[in-house]
Amino acid sequence: MSMRSKSRALGLARVTSSSVVLWTLVGVPLAAQETSRPEATEIWGPDPEVVSPGPAGEAASPPEDAIVLFSGDDVDEWVNVLDGQPAGWIVRDGVMSVNNQTGSVQTRRVFRDYQLHLEWRVPTGVEGSGQSRGNSGVYLAFMREPFGGYEVQVLDSYENETYVNGMAGSIYKQSIPLVNARRPPGEWQTYDVIWTAPRFTPDGALDSPARVTVFHNGVLIQKDFELQGETLYIGTPSYRPHGDAPIMLQAHGDPGPTVSYRNIWVRPLT
Ligand code: MG
Repeated sequence: MSMRSKSRALGLARVTSSSVVLWTLVGVPLAAQETSRPEATEIWGPDPEVVSPGPAGEAASPPEDAIVLFSGDDVDEWVNVLDGQPAGWIVRDGVMSVNNQTGSVQTRRVFRDYQLHLEWRVPTGVEGSGQSRGNSGVYLAFMREPFGGYEVQVLDSYENETYVNGMAGSIYKQSIPLVNARRPPGEWQTYDVIWTAPRFTPDGALDSPARVTVFHNGVLIQKDFELQGETLYIGTPSYRPHGDAPIMLQAHGDPGPTVSYRNIWVRPLT
């Protein structure tokens, strides 16, 4: 079947403007069709200004009222997303590392609004490029069925080109970080997050959107950003109603040495 007749069979029409030729589904807005491609929601620049933080220090002790989610000893506060079994991530030398064999992990506890601190490290010798280089992520409220939630991206953003709304510290495909406060692979980096969960009416409509503030290595990178919905690889964000939810750490599945975490604690605010 020729391109033209195939297109016609699919209900496609040719749209021509002064400089572009586009195929459009008859009766479906072009913008809606665009959302079927992951590239449609990528923003490639300009790059946020690089702001080098001060040198990495020792892991700071949690405040006394914090719930400690990982102190270096065990992953008892975490379970595998895939099977709900005790988390299969590797604990060594006070550090937990992504295990791509057992997949992403989520907290046993659920949360609403909170302050979260965690530290992460892209390994020395990290492989890959773009979104396949040190990719993990912190889902601030995670839904398993169907899979989704709100991701603060973890990625090597030290001289690693990718779409800027998917770099480290982005609210994935929704908000570019204000600056790039990255450290190089092998060094510990911190996220301090203030999360306000979305609220829904009893009939499931959105009452108030989620809001997030993030500091990366002590530098403000997200300032009270209002989320448009869940963070999606493909498509336009939208909300679905949910209650208190676990925090999830992503196993992105890329080959090579994986991202590590340490010193994770949370202070519920409601
Ligand atoms: Mg990620």
